[in-house]
Amino acid sequence: MDFALADEHLMIQEVAREFAQKKLAPRAAEFDETGQLDRELIHEMGRLGLLGIIVPEEYGGSGMDHLSYVIAMEELAAGCSSHTSVVGLHNSLFGYPLLSFGTEEQKQKYLPPICSGEKLAAYSLSEAGSGTDAASLNCTAVDKGDHFLVNGTKLWVTDGDIADYILLFVRTDKDAGAKGITALLVDVPTKGYSAAKSEKKMGFKASPTNELSFNNVLVPKDNVLGEIDAGFKVAMETLNSGRISVAAQALGIARAAFEIAIKYVQERRQFGKPLAAFQLTQAKIADMQTKLHAARLMIHHAAWKKDRGEGIIEEASMAKLFASEAATAITHMATQLLGGYGYTPEYHVERLYRDARVTEIFEGTSEIQRLVIAREALKRYAI
Ligand SMILES: Cc1cc2nc3c(=O)[nH]c(=O)nc-3n(C[C@H](O)[C@H](O)[C@H](O)COP(=O)(O)OP(=O)(O)OC[C@H]3O[C@@H](n4cnc5c(N)ncnc54)[C@H](O)[C@@H]3O)c2cc1C
Repeated sequence: MDFALADEHLMIQEVAREFAQKKLAPRAAEFDETGQLDRELIHEMGRLGLLGIIVPEEYGGSGMDHLSYVIAMEELAAGCSSHTSVVGLHNSLFGYPLLSFGTEEQKQKYLPPICSGEKLAAYSLSEAGSGTDAASLNCTAVDKGDHFLVNGTKLWVTDGDIADYILLFVRTDKDAGAKGITALLVDVPTKGYSAAKSEKKMGFKASPTNELSFNNVLVPKDNVLGEIDAGFKVAMETLNSGRISVAAQALGIARAAFEIAIKYVQERRQFGKPLAAFQLTQAKIADMQTKLHAARLMIHHAAWKKDRGEGIIEEASMAKLFASEAATAITHMATQLLGGYGYTPEYHVERLYRDARVTEIFEGTSEIQRLVIAREALKRYAI
């Protein structure tokens, strides 16, 4: 689809596609096997401007729009979803809230090194007892005048053990629910801090997911992002905006599986014909292609609206819901179309199937997207 794309969109698509197909896709199975990200490739993504696509040039970014960003995310995820998560983190989960809520000093300090890839960033909201119900988080920060003292444990932190900076959400008022949460920019501390080994996961294996422990960690007050006790708004606005990015990631994973399957069914012969000659195969191809197309249109539309400064709560949730469920369905169909080989690593669709699944879970589960969409629709059609 290119009817709505300008030259700059086609250019970043080309840059991201070439990098993904030359540097990520050929090694994606190795990354899955070893469970390791390649730091040199992260630096290269920085040099290509991919780690700060939506960050203005004055802060070391590429100064491009959200449409450019989702186009790049699709391409990168078609290569390796774990490395693509670093791009999502730096743009959506760390860069975007800094741009929206940060002071000039904070932007100048934190944005250039995350755009270049010199430093890595993480976003830490979830805890053992607080996932979907993020407002119930417990990790505490006690006001000590010019600094906070942080104590508690966070869970599920992507890139937690390799991050240099963490956008950390803490409780600053124990009786105020969502209104007692503060966002802190934490330079990974040397004292009182530890990151546990990565969780063992079904997919996204090269992307570390860690538990982080804070024991009397001192964070200066200057590191509050936004206002004290107003961090829940930072968390939610960040996630709302990040949904189009996860949707694009899901789309890229799904497209990679589709491209493998559509070649395979034309080569593999049974009953004297290529599998592609059977109408049941064609039905799957049609369903996969339709889902890909619909997901891309929804994602591009939401990104386009965001670039016009319009609210996209409903569009972003619909794009994430649809694209992530489409990715699960498409990778499932691709596995089926490859028969026995679909179940082995040889043709990569089993990895893509595993990688697709989490896009329905992180940054708001499918259930939560449905609740958001229904809430917005009911508001609009209220009688
Ligand atoms: C690989 C991976 C990476 C992650 N990275 C990060 C990260 O970098 N930073 C971070 O902060 N978190 C991260 N997460 C955490 C992720 O955002 C949470 O797992 C997710 O929000 C769901 O929370 P939970 O796991 O506690 O599930 P729960 O909230 O316990 O939900 C369990 C099930 O109940 C459903 N449910 C919950 N409430 C309702 C309701 N009101 N109505 C209907 N159904 C409901 C959910 O949809 C889900 O199906 C990551 C998770 C994974 C798996």
